[in-house]
Amino acid sequence: MEKRDVMIAGAGLVGLALAAALARNGMTVVLLDRVLPSANSDPETWDARIYAVSPGSAAFLSSVGAWQALSCERIEAIESMRIFGDSGATLNFSAYDIGERALAWIVEERALRAALLPAVHVPGIDIVTGVEFASLAWSADEATLTLADGRRFAASLIVGADGVHSWVRKAAGIVAEPKPYGQQGVVANFDCDLAHHGCARQWFRADGSVLAWLPLPGRRISIVWSASDALAAELLALAPDAFAARVAEAGERALGALRMITPPVGYPLSSLRLPTSIAHRMALVGDAAHGVHPLAGQGVNLGFGDAQALASVLAERGPIGDAGAPILLERFARRRAEPVLAMHAVTDGLVRLFGPRTPWLRILRNAGLAAVDRLPMLKRALAQPALR
Ligand SMILES: Cc1cc2nc3c(=O)[nH]c(=O)nc-3n(C[C@H](O)[C@H](O)[C@H](O)COP(=O)(O)OP(=O)(O)OC[C@H]3O[C@@H](n4cnc5c(N)ncnc54)[C@H](O)[C@@H]3O)c2cc1C
Repeated sequence: MEKRDVMIAGAGLVGLALAAALARNGMTVVLLDRVLPSANSDPETWDARIYAVSPGSAAFLSSVGAWQALSCERIEAIESMRIFGDSGATLNFSAYDIGERALAWIVEERALRAALLPAVHVPGIDIVTGVEFASLAWSADEATLTLADGRRFAASLIVGADGVHSWVRKAAGIVAEPKPYGQQGVVANFDCDLAHHGCARQWFRADGSVLAWLPLPGRRISIVWSASDALAAELLALAPDAFAARVAEAGERALGALRMITPPVGYPLSSLRLPTSIAHRMALVGDAAHGVHPLAGQGVNLGFGDAQALASVLAERGPIGDAGAPILLERFARRRAEPVLAMHAVTDGLVRLFGPRTPWLRILRNAGLAAVDRLPMLKRALAQPALR
């Protein structure tokens, strides 16, 4: 059995980006997934799964050759952002004010996947798809993954990039269950009457839900409405015109009338915090390592941050030939601890701050938003971690 440097279980966006980055550093990789990542991208339709990719993630994707492969007709820059509290306060961010071209870039999931695929079809990476993982075993110097069809793969390091219900995480004995927020992220795309001018809008609503309007190319927007399970069920049951009218109304008709172009889908939202993201010859990246609320649009950015950190720790390993050496894994875990903790604190803090309907808390949070809006230095400090 051929032994690779790294075996990546899960070829979602984070697994794909990690594989590409490792191969660029001359490492041998096997990438395994139950589905074949496809590059299906019909230009006539829009994917309801969209990402707000931070400038930091865009730079990482550029370094693996994927960002430049995206068609500029499918990317929109967020040049400004308006956040509305639940009793009139607003907080405004502008890319121009903080010296950036964009606060983030809106890209469809399928476009990102299509851009990453050529970067993994390169020498040094073997791709194995249509597989179910069956068992994982560790010896002193390697990890061996056996598939349901009996095939076996060995590597110095196994990386779990297999999403929030990670099989690898369980196999490594890291016990943690995602904690449901009792909410769903309802996503859909719309044509709108008025131009959005690259402005993203987010409303913290009095019913505890959070509605984000994100600019797509042309007069189009994509929405993420983080709503209680009951409200999500109600929204998903509406006829297309009624749903579009409801979304337009909830967004104060800021872009005139809306027409639905991609039907709504609801994703259950959960929080996942782990005691550790490493074990013997094992590291976790992406949603396998952390689950954050989408209200900050940072989930995949955290995952790209993991991939970038792991690839650079392994590239800088100097005389240490072994990609699974404990000292390297500890270095990786240390590098990621602070950004992951900070993102949990921000997203869970906002959910707790804007969830309850207590009147004094409503006054306090709106006063807070308005106060931050008057402090450009503080706004810059708040924006920087999300950008990088
Ligand atoms: C509504 C919503 C909106 C969001 N918006 C944003 C946003 O704007 N910006 C942002 O940064 N993030 C956002 N996120 C978060 C983002 O979607 C995730 O963080 C990201 O998709 C995680 O990628 P991943 O590669 O880690 O995992 P996944 O995309 O879950 O990939 C895991 C892969 O592992 C494979 N796999 C899993 N188990 C097995 C198994 N047993 N055998 C074989 N293969 C297996 C799967 O087939 C899959 O390909 C949002 C999330 C939601 C729910």
